[in-house]
Amino acid sequence: MLPTPEVGEWSAAEPIKEDKLAALDVVPLCIKIVSYAQPPKHIWANRTYLQLTGQTLEAFRAQDASAPSDSCSKVFAARYQHCQVEKKKLMEPADFSADDKPRERDNGVENMCVPVSLQYRTGEVEEGVMITKWPAEVKRNLEGSNKYMKKLLECSPYPLCLFNFNGHLITCNPAAVAVFGNTIWLQSDIFGMSERERCGLDPDQLKNHSASFTIERTERCTAYEAMMEALVEDGSSYQTDLMIRRRGGSGAEEFWYCRVFAQRHKDPITGEPLIMISHQDVTELRKVEGELGRMEMSANTKHDLMKHDSDVAGSLMVLLGEDWNFADDKSSGGEGVVSTDGKSETLTPRSMESTVSADSVNMGQRPAQLHGLRACLDKADEWEFNVFDLEKESDGLPLQVLCWHLFMKHNLIEEFQLDQIKLINFLRTIENGHQDNPYHNATHVADVMQSMHCLLIKGGIGKFVGKLEKFAGLFSAIVHDFEHRGFNNDFLIKTVDEWAINSNDKSPNESHHLSAAFRILRQPECDFMHRMNPEMKSKFRKMVIDMVMATDMGEHMAIVSKLKTEIQKRIENPDDEIGDDPPESLRILVMQGAIKVADIGHLYAELSVHIEWSERLEEEMWRQGDVEKERNMKVSFLMDRQKPGVTKSQPGFIDFVVRPLFETWVSCFPESNVLLDRINQNYAVWQTKEKH
Ligand SMILES: [Zn+2]
Repeated sequence: MLPTPEVGEWSAAEPIKEDKLAALDVVPLCIKIVSYAQPPKHIWANRTYLQLTGQTLEAFRAQDASAPSDSCSKVFAARYQHCQVEKKKLMEPADFSADDKPRERDNGVENMCVPVSLQYRTGEVEEGVMITKWPAEVKRNLEGSNKYMKKLLECSPYPLCLFNFNGHLITCNPAAVAVFGNTIWLQSDIFGMSERERCGLDPDQLKNHSASFTIERTERCTAYEAMMEALVEDGSSYQTDLMIRRRGGSGAEEFWYCRVFAQRHKDPITGEPLIMISHQDVTELRKVEGELGRMEMSANTKHDLMKHDSDVAGSLMVLLGEDWNFADDKSSGGEGVVSTDGKSETLTPRSMESTVSADSVNMGQRPAQLHGLRACLDKADEWEFNVFDLEKESDGLPLQVLCWHLFMKHNLIEEFQLDQIKLINFLRTIENGHQDNPYHNATHVADVMQSMHCLLIKGGIGKFVGKLEKFAGLFSAIVHDFEHRGFNNDFLIKTVDEWAINSNDKSPNESHHLSAAFRILRQPECDFMHRMNPEMKSKFRKMVIDMVMATDMGEHMAIVSKLKTEIQKRIENPDDEIGDDPPESLRILVMQGAIKVADIGHLYAELSVHIEWSERLEEEMWRQGDVEKERNMKVSFLMDRQKPGVTKSQPGFIDFVVRPLFETWVSCFPESNVLLDRINQNYAVWQTKEKH
């Protein structure tokens, strides 16, 4: 007989023995047990909980004096009753938080409660509720599988295995059995070592089992050695992702990715050193991160880079709600039709066949939430676009997701031989580099990118610009506010900020956005344009610099008048050698105008979106005003919280700043006429507000 996990003795129905609680100290979740019998009292908390709250167990218990308020305890009692009645639903979101404050969903952490009965050493039994704090994401993944949740340790959503240092599995929780199957005892070292490689396990036990679980050999040996090396250092930890092949329920081989996290621990009972290993199925995550391609690549070195790239594309298309199994139906892979200058152009990402054959991959169901994202991205070709919807549907990654979508639509990846993995790294770095400012944040950037896209596909500038300008236009939108701190140029110059010093006071913000972004691009892992030729790259760089520098509002009127004279002149005199190939200076000027229009594109958004952005801008300006006050500086115009802000002077802003740009713009590009109409509609609303 194979050993049964010790934790199997524990179930919600059977009392937990008091001395077994110590085992929960190694669980990296906050766990406490509270009794809601009258009067409510704290019974026990694990070490993670105590460390986080800075208490001793005695202090935690002593808190019983400050029992929850009457209304709270009613909620607790009701919840407890509910749990008792519905034992099937052991994992229920609680209506209260672990610190007994009203429930709040902070950072994706949810509180779970499970009814338990605790058996003291004296034999006495007490009913309680075990409250666990754990990441909501993990909870969602496991929610559907209640059958794994019957035992006490299942309060931990992580498959947990405890090993001693010779690789012998001491115990594991049911979540681990659920993930690894009943053969977990054969995979004693979790890296899937073969019989001879394994130690600490009785070979007799192996005879009746055929291993159905393999990891690429070199990789697992390296990972195992690296882990042991890391763990020899006291208190250290080790993390790696392994690609694992296994036989699924139907007998078919499936692939998945397992993130192994190992930490050195002491056995809470014997004090012996041991390794705690948690496993997380990161298959979905890996796909989204585009790393599947890389893993596949190392597994199939014969495959060329193109195929590896298309795997990554496949990964991202999954994120975008496209079919993953392109081999099944190639025509379904990310088609998009972009109309340029009246001509319709079908843009299909390059060959999408995966290096993994369709039948060997069981990637599971496409998450339903992607449908929302897909629907949102479908609207990206419209002037009227709600970027806040995108922010929500893309799980807070509007910049990366939209950029990928638009690069695919414009076929830029194929056209410029972009390195997809590096592009993903670049976009991730850029998105992360955006601060959480009310206005100048990654969502604003996504908004500008979307406006730029619309100007390119239907704003009438298509006839002036080529592929490289389109690429540079979208790229400029991505980086044009990179690392913005919410201060304007004037402030940076007055305070002799580092950015002002670096730029000699010439557009300190814009200079920084550019240089910082190009510095990221120079990092080998982010250099997604490495296959472009140097000449084209330097042209591209010049365009991007010209465009981003043009977003300095200090240059506003100069650019408007240049647009007026240069472009209007050309349009009025079509014989003037404009032809099919307008000079570079003119193309750059058009793109400068485009990014300026896009940068204040919220002015022509639907009213609610426009008002939201205006209020955010007002708040950001007020925050600068607050800093100015703190520093005893004169508070800048419109930046004093005590006085009317930008939302009170919108008509004036439109009259003197916005209208000159847009009137010039639509006279050059009548296709954009609708923008001015929409601005006028929003303008009328502001005017009525001003009157009241
Ligand atoms: Zn901007």
